[in-house]
Amino acid sequence: MSAPRPTPASHHHRQAPVSRRRLRVCHECDLLVALPPLAVGQKADCPRCGHTLVRRHANPAERTLALVLATLVALGLSVAFPFIGFELSGIGNRIELTDSAATLMGLHQPLMALCVLLTVIILPAVYLCSLGWLCAGALLRRPLPSSHQIARTLRHVTPWMMADVFVIGTLVSLIKVIGMADIELGLSFWTFCAFALLLLLTTQSVDRDWLWFFLDSQSMAPPEAKPGHTASSQGLCGCPTCGMINRLPDDGGKARCGRCDERLHPWHGVNNQATLALLAAAVIMYLPANLYPIMITTSLGSSSPSTILGGVLLFVQHGDWPIAFIIFTASVVVPVSKILALLWLCRVVSREQHQLDRLRRIRLYRMTEFVGRWSMVDVFVVAILVALIRNGNLMSIEPGPAALAFAAVVVLTMLAAMLFDQRSIWAGTDTGQDNNDNAKESEYV
Ligand SMILES: [Zn+2]
Ligand SMILES: [Zn+2]
Repeated sequence: MSAPRPTPASHHHRQAPVSRRRLRVCHECDLLVALPPLAVGQKADCPRCGHTLVRRHANPAERTLALVLATLVALGLSVAFPFIGFELSGIGNRIELTDSAATLMGLHQPLMALCVLLTVIILPAVYLCSLGWLCAGALLRRPLPSSHQIARTLRHVTPWMMADVFVIGTLVSLIKVIGMADIELGLSFWTFCAFALLLLLTTQSVDRDWLWFFLDSQSMAPPEAKPGHTASSQGLCGCPTCGMINRLPDDGGKARCGRCDERLHPWHGVNNQATLALLAAAVIMYLPANLYPIMITTSLGSSSPSTILGGVLLFVQHGDWPIAFIIFTASVVVPVSKILALLWLCRVVSREQHQLDRLRRIRLYRMTEFVGRWSMVDVFVVAILVALIRNGNLMSIEPGPAALAFAAVVVLTMLAAMLFDQRSIWAGTDTGQDNNDNAKESEYV
Protein backbone atom coordinates (compact mmCIF):
# COMPACT_ATOMS: atom_id res chain seq x y z
CA MET A 1 0.00 0.00 0.00
CA SER A 2 1.43 3.37 -0.90
CA ALA A 3 1.01 6.82 0.55
CA PRO A 4 -1.67 9.13 -0.92
CA ARG A 5 -0.67 10.32 -4.38
CA PRO A 6 0.61 12.93 -5.12
CA THR A 7 1.64 13.84 -1.62
CA PRO A 8 5.12 15.28 -1.62
CA ALA A 9 4.27 17.28 1.49
CA SER A 10 2.71 14.50 3.51
CA HIS A 11 5.88 13.33 5.23
CA HIS A 12 6.36 16.72 6.90
CA HIS A 13 3.27 15.98 8.92
CA ARG A 14 4.24 12.59 10.20
CA GLN A 15 5.04 13.80 13.69
CA ALA A 16 2.44 16.54 14.02
CA PRO A 17 -1.10 15.54 15.02
CA VAL A 18 -3.46 15.63 12.06
CA SER A 19 -6.10 18.31 12.13
CA ARG A 20 -9.53 16.74 12.26
CA ARG A 21 -10.49 19.00 9.39
CA ARG A 22 -8.18 16.97 7.13
CA LEU A 23 -9.82 13.63 7.75
CA ARG A 24 -11.98 12.15 5.00
CA VAL A 25 -13.58 8.79 4.32
CA CYS A 26 -13.04 7.34 0.86
CA HIS A 27 -16.50 7.10 -0.65
CA GLU A 28 -15.60 3.95 -2.57
CA CYS A 29 -13.64 1.77 -0.13
CA ASP A 30 -14.55 3.33 3.26
CA LEU A 31 -10.90 3.91 4.25
CA LEU A 32 -10.36 6.82 6.62
CA VAL A 33 -7.52 8.98 5.30
CA ALA A 34 -5.86 12.25 6.28
CA LEU A 35 -5.58 14.64 3.35
CA PRO A 36 -2.14 16.12 2.77
CA PRO A 37 -1.97 19.89 2.23
CA LEU A 38 -2.77 20.35 -1.44
CA ALA A 39 -1.57 23.10 -3.70
CA VAL A 40 -3.68 24.48 -6.52
CA GLY A 41 -3.95 22.01 -9.37
CA GLN A 42 -3.20 19.00 -7.18
CA LYS A 43 -5.52 16.18 -6.31
CA ALA A 44 -5.50 13.52 -3.64
CA ASP A 45 -6.31 9.91 -4.49
CA CYS A 46 -7.31 7.23 -2.05
CA PRO A 47 -4.18 5.16 -1.32
CA ARG A 48 -6.16 1.93 -1.34
CA CYS A 49 -8.57 2.13 -4.27
CA GLY A 50 -7.29 5.14 -6.23
CA HIS A 51 -10.60 7.05 -6.02
CA THR A 52 -10.02 10.80 -6.31
CA LEU A 53 -10.91 12.30 -2.95
CA VAL A 54 -10.43 16.01 -3.65
CA ARG A 55 -9.16 18.14 -6.49
CA ARG A 56 -8.02 21.70 -5.82
CA HIS A 57 -8.60 24.46 -8.37
CA ALA A 58 -7.42 28.05 -8.42
CA ASN A 59 -10.24 30.51 -7.57
CA PRO A 60 -12.91 27.79 -7.44
CA ALA A 61 -15.88 30.15 -7.05
CA GLU A 62 -14.94 32.50 -9.90
CA ARG A 63 -13.94 29.64 -12.15
CA THR A 64 -17.13 27.64 -11.66
CA LEU A 65 -19.37 30.72 -11.86
CA ALA A 66 -17.78 31.74 -15.16
CA LEU A 67 -18.34 28.25 -16.55
CA VAL A 68 -21.92 28.20 -15.25
CA LEU A 69 -22.75 31.51 -16.95
CA ALA A 70 -21.16 30.44 -20.24
CA THR A 71 -23.03 27.12 -20.14
CA LEU A 72 -26.34 28.82 -19.39
CA VAL A 73 -25.84 31.19 -22.35
CA ALA A 74 -25.11 28.21 -24.61
CA LEU A 75 -28.24 26.46 -23.33
CA GLY A 76 -30.34 29.58 -23.95
CA LEU A 77 -29.05 29.81 -27.53
CA SER A 78 -29.65 26.09 -28.04
CA VAL A 79 -33.37 26.32 -27.37
CA ALA A 80 -33.91 29.62 -29.19
CA PHE A 81 -32.89 28.75 -32.75
CA PRO A 82 -33.53 25.92 -35.25
CA PHE A 83 -31.68 22.78 -34.24
CA ILE A 84 -31.57 20.63 -37.37
CA GLY A 85 -33.56 20.45 -40.57
CA PHE A 86 -33.99 18.15 -43.53
CA GLU A 87 -35.51 18.34 -46.97
CA LEU A 88 -36.93 15.51 -49.03
CA SER A 89 -38.53 15.94 -52.47
CA GLY A 90 -39.12 19.62 -51.86
CA ILE A 91 -40.85 19.08 -48.53
CA GLY A 92 -38.73 20.14 -45.61
CA ASN A 93 -38.92 20.13 -41.87
CA ARG A 94 -36.92 22.12 -39.41
CA ILE A 95 -37.01 21.40 -35.71
CA GLU A 96 -35.94 23.12 -32.55
CA LEU A 97 -34.38 21.32 -29.62
CA THR A 98 -37.63 21.20 -27.62
CA ASP A 99 -39.59 19.84 -30.60
CA SER A 100 -38.42 16.29 -29.98
CA ALA A 101 -40.13 16.27 -26.59
CA ALA A 102 -43.19 18.15 -27.93
CA THR A 103 -43.66 15.64 -30.78
CA LEU A 104 -43.37 12.70 -28.37
CA MET A 105 -46.08 14.32 -26.23
CA GLY A 106 -48.25 14.61 -29.33
CA LEU A 107 -47.70 10.92 -30.08
CA HIS A 108 -48.90 9.96 -26.58
CA GLN A 109 -45.44 9.13 -25.25
CA PRO A 110 -45.37 11.47 -22.22
CA LEU A 111 -42.81 9.37 -20.32
CA MET A 112 -40.32 9.42 -23.17
CA ALA A 113 -40.93 13.13 -23.67
CA LEU A 114 -40.28 13.71 -19.99
CA CYS A 115 -37.16 11.55 -20.13
CA VAL A 116 -35.71 13.59 -23.01
CA LEU A 117 -36.74 16.94 -21.55
CA LEU A 118 -35.36 16.16 -18.10
CA THR A 119 -32.00 14.71 -19.12
CA VAL A 120 -31.22 17.24 -21.85
CA ILE A 121 -32.68 20.57 -20.72
CA ILE A 122 -34.39 20.70 -17.33
CA LEU A 123 -31.87 18.94 -15.07
CA PRO A 124 -28.85 20.73 -16.60
CA ALA A 125 -30.68 24.06 -16.17
CA VAL A 126 -31.54 23.27 -12.54
CA TYR A 127 -27.98 22.13 -11.90
CA LEU A 128 -26.45 25.24 -13.44
CA CYS A 129 -28.75 27.65 -11.59
CA SER A 130 -28.08 25.86 -8.28
CA LEU A 131 -24.35 25.91 -8.82
CA GLY A 132 -24.46 29.59 -9.83
CA TRP A 133 -26.40 30.36 -6.63
CA LEU A 134 -23.78 28.60 -4.49
CA CYS A 135 -20.85 30.28 -6.27
CA ALA A 136 -22.49 33.70 -5.97
CA GLY A 137 -22.70 33.09 -2.24
CA ALA A 138 -19.03 32.13 -2.16
CA LEU A 139 -18.07 35.33 -3.99
CA LEU A 140 -20.11 37.39 -1.50
CA ARG A 141 -18.35 35.44 1.27
CA ARG A 142 -21.60 34.36 2.94
CA PRO A 143 -23.84 31.49 1.85
CA LEU A 144 -27.09 32.64 0.25
CA PRO A 145 -30.38 31.25 1.66
CA SER A 146 -31.05 27.48 1.24
CA SER A 147 -27.46 26.86 0.14
CA HIS A 148 -27.22 23.64 2.18
CA GLN A 149 -30.28 22.05 0.60
CA ILE A 150 -29.21 23.15 -2.88
CA ALA A 151 -25.67 21.82 -2.48
CA ARG A 152 -27.10 18.51 -1.30
CA THR A 153 -29.19 18.02 -4.43
CA LEU A 154 -26.26 18.57 -6.84
CA ARG A 155 -24.84 15.07 -6.37
CA HIS A 156 -28.17 13.48 -7.20
CA VAL A 157 -28.72 15.54 -10.35
CA THR A 158 -25.27 15.13 -11.94
CA PRO A 159 -25.51 11.52 -13.26
CA TRP A 160 -28.82 12.23 -15.02
CA MET A 161 -27.60 15.09 -17.19
CA MET A 162 -27.05 13.63 -20.66
CA ALA A 163 -26.40 16.51 -23.03
CA ASP A 164 -23.25 14.80 -24.35
CA VAL A 165 -25.16 11.59 -25.07
CA PHE A 166 -27.79 13.65 -26.89
CA VAL A 167 -25.10 15.10 -29.16
CA ILE A 168 -24.06 11.58 -30.17
CA GLY A 169 -27.74 10.67 -30.61
CA THR A 170 -28.18 13.64 -32.95
CA LEU A 171 -25.15 12.64 -35.01
CA VAL A 172 -26.38 9.05 -35.31
CA SER A 173 -29.86 10.25 -36.42
CA LEU A 174 -28.30 12.57 -38.99
CA ILE A 175 -26.21 9.74 -40.42
CA LYS A 176 -29.38 7.65 -40.58
CA VAL A 177 -31.23 10.17 -42.79
CA ILE A 178 -28.29 11.65 -44.68
CA GLY A 179 -28.63 9.07 -47.45
CA MET A 180 -32.24 9.92 -48.29
CA ALA A 181 -32.54 13.64 -47.64
CA ASP A 182 -30.62 16.90 -47.48
CA ILE A 183 -29.52 17.78 -43.99
CA GLU A 184 -29.24 21.24 -42.56
CA LEU A 185 -27.49 21.98 -39.29
CA GLY A 186 -29.05 24.94 -37.50
CA LEU A 187 -27.33 27.49 -35.28
CA SER A 188 -28.68 25.70 -32.20
CA PHE A 189 -26.93 22.49 -33.19
CA TRP A 190 -23.54 24.15 -32.82
CA THR A 191 -24.45 25.98 -29.61
CA PHE A 192 -25.80 22.71 -28.23
CA CYS A 193 -22.46 21.00 -28.90
CA ALA A 194 -20.76 23.87 -27.06
CA PHE A 195 -23.32 23.52 -24.26
CA ALA A 196 -22.60 19.79 -23.85
CA LEU A 197 -18.86 20.44 -23.70
CA LEU A 198 -19.19 23.36 -21.27
CA LEU A 199 -21.51 21.34 -19.05
CA LEU A 200 -18.87 18.63 -18.84
CA LEU A 201 -16.21 21.22 -17.92
CA THR A 202 -18.53 22.73 -15.30
CA THR A 203 -19.19 19.43 -13.55
CA GLN A 204 -15.44 18.72 -13.60
CA SER A 205 -14.62 22.12 -12.11
CA VAL A 206 -16.69 21.66 -8.96
CA ASP A 207 -14.55 21.12 -5.88
CA ARG A 208 -17.13 19.58 -3.57
CA ASP A 209 -14.73 19.54 -0.66
CA TRP A 210 -14.08 23.26 -0.97
CA LEU A 211 -17.79 23.98 -1.42
CA TRP A 212 -18.81 22.25 1.78
CA PHE A 213 -15.94 23.79 3.69
CA PHE A 214 -17.19 27.21 2.59
CA LEU A 215 -20.79 26.35 3.59
CA ASP A 216 -19.79 25.03 6.99
CA SER A 217 -16.19 25.17 8.18
CA GLN A 218 -17.08 24.38 11.80
CA SER A 219 -17.99 20.72 11.39
CA MET A 220 -15.14 18.32 12.07
CA ALA A 221 -14.55 14.61 12.26
CA PRO A 222 -15.11 13.07 15.73
CA PRO A 223 -11.93 13.19 17.87
CA GLU A 224 -11.56 9.40 17.94
CA ALA A 225 -11.37 9.10 14.14
CA LYS A 226 -8.15 7.30 13.21
CA PRO A 227 -6.72 7.29 9.69
CA GLY A 228 -5.60 4.03 8.14
CA HIS A 229 -8.68 2.02 9.13
CA THR A 230 -12.11 1.75 7.60
CA ALA A 231 -14.71 4.11 8.99
CA SER A 232 -17.14 1.27 9.66
CA SER A 233 -14.65 -0.53 11.94
CA GLN A 234 -14.57 2.61 14.12
CA GLY A 235 -18.34 3.09 14.29
CA LEU A 236 -18.06 6.04 11.92
CA CYS A 237 -19.59 6.79 8.55
CA GLY A 238 -18.49 9.17 5.82
CA CYS A 239 -21.23 11.32 4.33
CA PRO A 240 -21.67 10.49 0.63
CA THR A 241 -22.63 14.09 -0.16
CA CYS A 242 -20.38 16.44 1.83
CA GLY A 243 -17.65 14.01 2.94
CA MET A 244 -17.98 14.80 6.64
CA ILE A 245 -17.17 11.95 9.04
CA ASN A 246 -20.10 11.25 11.35
CA ARG A 247 -20.35 9.17 14.50
CA LEU A 248 -23.12 6.63 14.14
CA PRO A 249 -25.76 6.41 16.89
CA ASP A 250 -25.07 3.51 19.29
CA ASP A 251 -28.58 2.13 19.01
CA GLY A 252 -28.03 1.44 15.29
CA GLY A 253 -30.93 3.71 14.31
CA LYS A 254 -31.17 5.83 11.17
CA ALA A 255 -28.49 8.48 11.01
CA ARG A 256 -28.18 11.75 9.16
CA CYS A 257 -25.09 13.79 8.39
CA GLY A 258 -24.43 16.48 10.97
CA ARG A 259 -23.35 18.96 8.31
CA CYS A 260 -25.59 18.49 5.26
CA ASP A 261 -28.43 16.38 6.74
CA GLU A 262 -28.01 13.72 4.04
CA ARG A 263 -29.07 10.20 5.05
CA LEU A 264 -26.05 8.12 5.97
CA HIS A 265 -25.62 4.55 4.82
CA PRO A 266 -23.83 2.70 7.61
CA TRP A 267 -22.05 -0.47 6.61
CA HIS A 268 -23.92 -3.57 7.78
CA GLY A 269 -22.04 -6.18 5.79
CA VAL A 270 -22.52 -7.18 2.18
CA ASN A 271 -26.07 -6.41 1.10
CA ASN A 272 -26.81 -6.01 -2.57
CA GLN A 273 -30.52 -6.84 -2.55
CA ALA A 274 -31.53 -3.50 -4.05
CA THR A 275 -29.03 -3.87 -6.90
CA LEU A 276 -30.18 -7.42 -7.61
CA ALA A 277 -33.85 -6.41 -7.60
CA LEU A 278 -33.20 -3.55 -10.02
CA LEU A 279 -31.13 -5.83 -12.26
CA ALA A 280 -33.96 -8.36 -12.35
CA ALA A 281 -36.35 -5.60 -13.39
CA ALA A 282 -33.87 -4.46 -16.07
CA VAL A 283 -33.59 -8.01 -17.46
CA ILE A 284 -37.39 -8.26 -17.66
CA MET A 285 -37.66 -4.89 -19.43
CA TYR A 286 -34.88 -5.86 -21.83
CA LEU A 287 -37.12 -8.52 -23.40
CA PRO A 288 -39.85 -6.18 -24.74
CA ALA A 289 -37.09 -3.72 -25.62
CA ASN A 290 -35.74 -6.25 -28.11
CA LEU A 291 -38.91 -8.07 -29.18
CA TYR A 292 -41.06 -5.03 -30.00
CA PRO A 293 -40.23 -2.48 -32.68
CA ILE A 294 -38.30 0.55 -31.45
CA MET A 295 -39.60 2.69 -34.30
CA ILE A 296 -42.14 2.44 -37.08
CA THR A 297 -41.26 4.02 -40.40
CA THR A 298 -44.10 4.99 -42.74
CA SER A 299 -42.90 5.52 -46.28
CA LEU A 300 -45.24 6.12 -49.24
CA GLY A 301 -48.21 4.72 -47.33
CA SER A 302 -46.65 1.48 -46.17
CA SER A 303 -45.31 1.19 -42.65
CA SER A 304 -42.44 -1.02 -41.58
CA PRO A 305 -41.59 -1.59 -37.91
CA SER A 306 -37.95 -2.15 -36.96
CA THR A 307 -36.51 -3.66 -33.81
CA ILE A 308 -33.16 -2.70 -32.29
CA LEU A 309 -31.34 -5.66 -33.84
CA GLY A 310 -33.26 -5.25 -37.12
CA GLY A 311 -32.00 -1.66 -37.32
CA VAL A 312 -28.43 -2.81 -36.76
CA LEU A 313 -28.75 -5.49 -39.47
CA LEU A 314 -30.16 -2.90 -41.88
CA PHE A 315 -27.06 -0.76 -41.41
CA VAL A 316 -24.82 -3.77 -41.91
CA GLN A 317 -26.62 -4.58 -45.18
CA HIS A 318 -26.12 -1.00 -46.37
CA GLY A 319 -22.45 -1.25 -45.47
CA ASP A 320 -22.69 1.42 -42.76
CA TRP A 321 -20.37 -0.44 -40.42
CA PRO A 322 -19.42 2.42 -38.06
CA ILE A 323 -23.04 3.37 -37.37
CA ALA A 324 -24.06 -0.28 -37.00
CA PHE A 325 -21.22 -0.64 -34.51
CA ILE A 326 -22.33 2.41 -32.47
CA ILE A 327 -25.97 1.29 -32.29
CA PHE A 328 -25.01 -2.31 -31.51
CA THR A 329 -22.61 -1.22 -28.77
CA ALA A 330 -25.04 1.24 -27.20
CA SER A 331 -28.13 -0.93 -27.28
CA VAL A 332 -26.80 -4.48 -26.90
CA VAL A 333 -23.18 -4.67 -25.72
CA VAL A 334 -23.36 -1.98 -23.02
CA PRO A 335 -26.64 -2.95 -21.31
CA VAL A 336 -25.97 -6.70 -21.44
CA SER A 337 -22.38 -6.45 -20.22
CA LYS A 338 -23.42 -3.96 -17.56
CA ILE A 339 -26.08 -6.31 -16.21
CA LEU A 340 -23.65 -9.26 -16.31
CA ALA A 341 -20.83 -7.27 -14.69
CA LEU A 342 -23.04 -6.09 -11.83
CA LEU A 343 -24.45 -9.59 -11.30
CA TRP A 344 -20.91 -10.96 -11.20
CA LEU A 345 -19.81 -8.26 -8.74
CA CYS A 346 -22.80 -8.97 -6.49
CA ARG A 347 -21.83 -12.65 -6.51
CA VAL A 348 -18.08 -12.35 -5.91
CA VAL A 349 -18.05 -9.68 -3.20
CA SER A 350 -18.90 -12.23 -0.54
CA ARG A 351 -15.90 -14.43 -1.37
CA GLU A 352 -12.27 -14.36 -0.28
CA GLN A 353 -10.38 -11.87 -2.38
CA HIS A 354 -6.85 -10.81 -3.08
CA GLN A 355 -5.87 -7.16 -3.22
CA LEU A 356 -5.30 -7.35 -6.97
CA ASP A 357 -8.74 -8.81 -7.55
CA ARG A 358 -10.31 -6.02 -5.60
CA LEU A 359 -8.61 -3.36 -7.72
CA ARG A 360 -9.73 -5.14 -10.85
CA ARG A 361 -13.26 -5.33 -9.50
CA ILE A 362 -13.44 -1.67 -8.54
CA ARG A 363 -12.21 -0.77 -12.04
CA LEU A 364 -14.91 -2.96 -13.56
CA TYR A 365 -17.49 -1.26 -11.37
CA ARG A 366 -16.29 2.22 -12.34
CA MET A 367 -16.45 1.25 -15.98
CA THR A 368 -20.04 0.00 -15.73
CA GLU A 369 -21.00 3.22 -13.98
CA PHE A 370 -19.26 5.31 -16.63
CA VAL A 371 -20.60 3.65 -19.77
CA GLY A 372 -24.15 2.99 -18.53
CA ARG A 373 -25.64 6.34 -19.51
CA TRP A 374 -24.33 6.13 -23.07
CA SER A 375 -26.97 3.49 -23.85
CA MET A 376 -29.46 6.36 -23.86
CA VAL A 377 -28.16 7.15 -27.38
CA ASP A 378 -30.76 4.82 -28.87
CA VAL A 379 -33.65 6.51 -27.09
CA PHE A 380 -32.43 9.93 -28.22
CA VAL A 381 -32.09 8.75 -31.81
CA VAL A 382 -35.75 7.74 -31.78
CA ALA A 383 -36.78 11.04 -30.16
CA ILE A 384 -34.93 13.09 -32.78
CA LEU A 385 -36.03 11.08 -35.82
CA VAL A 386 -39.65 11.13 -34.70
CA ALA A 387 -39.62 14.93 -34.50
CA LEU A 388 -37.55 15.46 -37.63
CA ILE A 389 -39.25 13.10 -40.07
CA ARG A 390 -42.90 14.09 -40.12
CA ASN A 391 -43.95 14.23 -43.72
CA GLY A 392 -47.27 12.44 -43.45
CA ASN A 393 -47.59 9.58 -45.89
CA LEU A 394 -44.47 10.47 -47.83
CA MET A 395 -42.25 9.58 -44.92
CA SER A 396 -42.72 9.69 -41.17
CA ILE A 397 -41.39 7.88 -38.14
CA GLU A 398 -43.22 6.95 -34.97
CA PRO A 399 -41.78 5.56 -31.74
CA GLY A 400 -42.45 1.90 -31.06
CA PRO A 401 -43.20 0.33 -27.67
CA ALA A 402 -39.59 -0.85 -27.34
CA ALA A 403 -38.30 2.72 -27.03
CA LEU A 404 -39.87 3.25 -23.62
CA ALA A 405 -38.88 -0.25 -22.48
CA PHE A 406 -35.30 0.42 -23.51
CA ALA A 407 -35.25 3.77 -21.68
CA ALA A 408 -36.46 1.86 -18.60
CA VAL A 409 -33.57 -0.63 -18.99
CA VAL A 410 -31.05 2.23 -19.06
CA VAL A 411 -32.57 3.95 -16.01
CA LEU A 412 -32.88 0.68 -14.06
CA THR A 413 -29.28 -0.39 -14.72
CA MET A 414 -28.03 3.10 -13.81
CA LEU A 415 -29.95 2.92 -10.52
CA ALA A 416 -28.63 -0.60 -9.91
CA ALA A 417 -25.04 0.60 -10.34
CA MET A 418 -25.65 3.60 -8.07
CA LEU A 419 -27.16 1.47 -5.32
CA PHE A 420 -24.35 -1.09 -5.50
CA ASP A 421 -22.32 -0.61 -2.34
CA GLN A 422 -18.69 -0.34 -3.49
CA ARG A 423 -17.57 -0.90 0.08
CA SER A 424 -18.59 -4.55 -0.31
CA ILE A 425 -15.69 -5.00 -2.76
CA TRP A 426 -13.33 -4.09 0.09
CA ALA A 427 -15.21 -5.93 2.83
CA GLY A 428 -12.92 -7.90 5.13
CA THR A 429 -9.73 -6.00 4.31
CA ASP A 430 -9.57 -4.22 7.64
CA THR A 431 -9.52 -7.36 9.76
CA GLY A 432 -6.28 -9.32 10.06
CA GLN A 433 -4.21 -6.25 9.28
CA ASP A 434 -4.49 -4.75 12.73
CA ASN A 435 -1.10 -6.12 13.79
CA ASN A 436 0.80 -3.60 11.67
CA ASP A 437 -1.31 -0.64 12.76
CA ASN A 438 1.52 1.71 13.53
CA ALA A 439 3.42 1.16 10.34
CA LYS A 440 0.26 1.71 8.35
CA GLU A 441 -0.76 4.78 10.22
CA SER A 442 2.55 6.52 9.69
CA GLU A 443 2.03 6.17 5.99
CA TYR A 444 -1.18 8.11 6.00
CA VAL A 445 -0.62 10.75 8.61
ZN1 LIG B 1 -10.67 4.27 -1.44
ZN1 LIG C 1 -22.95 15.40 4.77
